[in-house]
Amino acid sequence: MNALNRLHAELGPAVSVDPDELAASRVDRSGWVADGTPLAIVRARGVADVQATLRIASEFGVPVVTRGAGTGVAGGACGSDGSIVLSVAGMNRILEIRPEDELAVVEPGVINQDLNDALAEHGLWFAPDPASKAISTVGGNIATNAGGLLCAKYGVTREAVLALTVVLADGSILKTGHRTVKGVTGYDLTALLTGSEGTLGVIVEATVRTLALPTGDTVTVGAVFPDIAAAAAASAAVTAGRLRPAVMELIDAVSVAIIADYLGPEASSTLPLTQGAFLLVQLDGDAALVHAERAAEVLRAAGGIVELSDDAASGESLLAIRRAFHPALTAHGEVLIEDVCVPRSRMAEMFEIISGISERTGIVIPTVAHAGDGNLHPNFVIKADPHRAVDDPIVPEAVWAAANELFHAALELGGTLTGEHGVGVLKQRWLAEELGDTGFDLQRRLKAVFDPKGILGPGTMFAS
Ligand SMILES: Cc1cc2nc3c(=O)[nH]c(=O)nc-3n(C[C@H](O)[C@H](O)[C@H](O)COP(=O)(O)OP(=O)(O)OC[C@H]3O[C@@H](n4cnc5c(N)ncnc54)[C@H](O)[C@@H]3O)c2cc1C
Repeated sequence: MNALNRLHAELGPAVSVDPDELAASRVDRSGWVADGTPLAIVRARGVADVQATLRIASEFGVPVVTRGAGTGVAGGACGSDGSIVLSVAGMNRILEIRPEDELAVVEPGVINQDLNDALAEHGLWFAPDPASKAISTVGGNIATNAGGLLCAKYGVTREAVLALTVVLADGSILKTGHRTVKGVTGYDLTALLTGSEGTLGVIVEATVRTLALPTGDTVTVGAVFPDIAAAAAASAAVTAGRLRPAVMELIDAVSVAIIADYLGPEASSTLPLTQGAFLLVQLDGDAALVHAERAAEVLRAAGGIVELSDDAASGESLLAIRRAFHPALTAHGEVLIEDVCVPRSRMAEMFEIISGISERTGIVIPTVAHAGDGNLHPNFVIKADPHRAVDDPIVPEAVWAAANELFHAALELGGTLTGEHGVGVLKQRWLAEELGDTGFDLQRRLKAVFDPKGILGPGTMFAS
């Protein structure tokens, strides 16, 4: 009996070999298309299905690609040739909400927003807020250690994970972490598994920390600066002023022009959007208005034209400028969203380097940054190519060459290759450079301890 027969025999209707479904599993949202055709898709109905799949995969040496909602942007969830695509999206029950312990226990396929809707009834929330929160799973958020607009103040996913249940490559079950606020027994495997991108095991249950919903007002400040250097300096001044914004977003002039064009008369903010770079600062909590007024002063002193909004409607019109970033770009073609992070004090330099690469290569690179944590998203807009075959990569080599320069620059500034999107397939070739020989070798050996046959996450991170 071969692996496929065993899957059919043990998992019955959970297994699909429908060619259209197999083809759809070869892509995520990165623009990457995995080569070849996966062996099968298993839609796990529960932990036992995950265990059976991994036992069979281990026995036959078949690679396994774990998949949540498939919204990843690093190629990590793309079903490669001959692999089993193990979807946990259907394991989507919220198992427990414990307001007295401020925690929730969930299956991995729960959509982030659905968890938040359920928590809101108890005055709680799950803070990790990727822009994809309405479409991505909590398991995927944990596997990628996702971040978002609010994470400079409220933390990235790692800070919100207390305990995990994970099925290892051989089908056995590992439980890590604790339900208590504190707990330091043994190595912190929960932290190791958070961000491990499906290469160490399959997360089948998570105990997550929840926070009390913020009280008080939300006050939003928008400002336009003559150029990105001035806007970046202003955001650094806000940080230095210890104002702790919930959101601080920086958008370069190239992007602002594209957004202004996209929004047209819908741009109800009074700011002169066509005149340069944009900085959005949002403060929450009981002292929000006082802090927002101080932030507005800092931005004016730094040369900004400032609009402060303490009512929901005008605050929304300022936020709409940031929200329009992605749709405005996708109106012009496929978008490769890149992701580097630098110390906040080096953000202005990183913007300058990106604009230099753009001028030299002729490739337009609209860039937005989560300025509160130094995470920049340089974007590459790739025009539709009528001659591209279905299997051809969407991202041309010239774009990868520009991205390569950009990654090296981020590392030289003391930054990192990825602040939140992960390594996946797409950043594997730069991993050794950032980790160094000793770090790279140790992490590769760690991977082998969890997954001695090397079946998890083929072609990603440390897997060949
Ligand atoms: C419009 C848009 C906006 C986005 N904004 C953000 C953002 O602001 N911040 C951010 O961090 N990301 C963002 N992303 C990327 C993506 O949504 C996140 O990485 C998200 O956490 C992926 O969740 P998913 O359920 O789609 O996982 P998938 O894409 O299915 O998988 C992602 C990775 O996690 C692994 N994985 C998934 N589930 C499990 C599991 N249960 N056990 C083990 N491994 C698993 C996969 O193997 C893969 O390596 C965005 C994507 C889009 C399309």
